[in-house]
Amino acid sequence: MKKNVLLLTGIASFLLFSCKDKEEMIEVEVPSATTTEATPVNGDPKTVVANQGAFQMKGLNYGYNDLEPYMDAQTVETHYSKHHLGYCNKLNDAVKGTPLETMSIEEILNGLDLKNSALRNNAGGYYNHNIFWEIIGPKAGGKPTGKVAELINKDFGSFDAFKTQFTDAAKGLFGSGWVWLVYQNDGTLKITTTTNQDNPLMPNAEVKGYPLMNIDVWEHAYYLKYKNERPKYIENFWQLIDWSKVEYRMSLAK
Ligand code: FE
Repeated sequence: MKKNVLLLTGIASFLLFSCKDKEEMIEVEVPSATTTEATPVNGDPKTVVANQGAFQMKGLNYGYNDLEPYMDAQTVETHYSKHHLGYCNKLNDAVKGTPLETMSIEEILNGLDLKNSALRNNAGGYYNHNIFWEIIGPKAGGKPTGKVAELINKDFGSFDAFKTQFTDAAKGLFGSGWVWLVYQNDGTLKITTTTNQDNPLMPNAEVKGYPLMNIDVWEHAYYLKYKNERPKYIENFWQLIDWSKVEYRMSLAK
């Protein structure tokens, strides 16, 4: 390491040895500059734009690093700007030149031809991630209020019972998929899981209804930070749920 030499003149000596007219040469090691900043995150969610087509990215209501420490910036950036964008672009390819181009994503999913795997995977991937990013945010967590709280208490017994059931479903889901809180047509709430990019709007859904919230348990959602520890990712996800957004989605349910 390069050493800087500082010449200290008689001032220090004067204080210590009172008036010694002596000049000392002291070699002082100066610390080199160190990188203490967090790993820089490239890009801005606003710049993530799909190729020309029927569907577009909806943006994020926060920056890539705003969900720290529960969801790390690198994961959020990769998940949104690579995985989610990929689904959106491939969805645009799948609907191009077909009557689906003028339909809403929910209409496409409700009437989905399950044998059309390109459409199934990418329409699902696009929609599922839209909800995922929508219902989380910084300075969130806690408990729901309003109608969501009322229905959770009615249908699950308590918020804690609901949380346990949802968490257990996420921990227990084998492979890649999603866990959902669904508003069913009869006005009750239910937790369900789907594999791959399927969701509760699709004709094959075990529990059909309007999705109020979800959690992505594909490895790409947590592996960079949590590695194989999916349960830790799920536990921390509760700190990110913005219940006002879940409440808003309930207002959209028919
Ligand atoms: Fe994902």
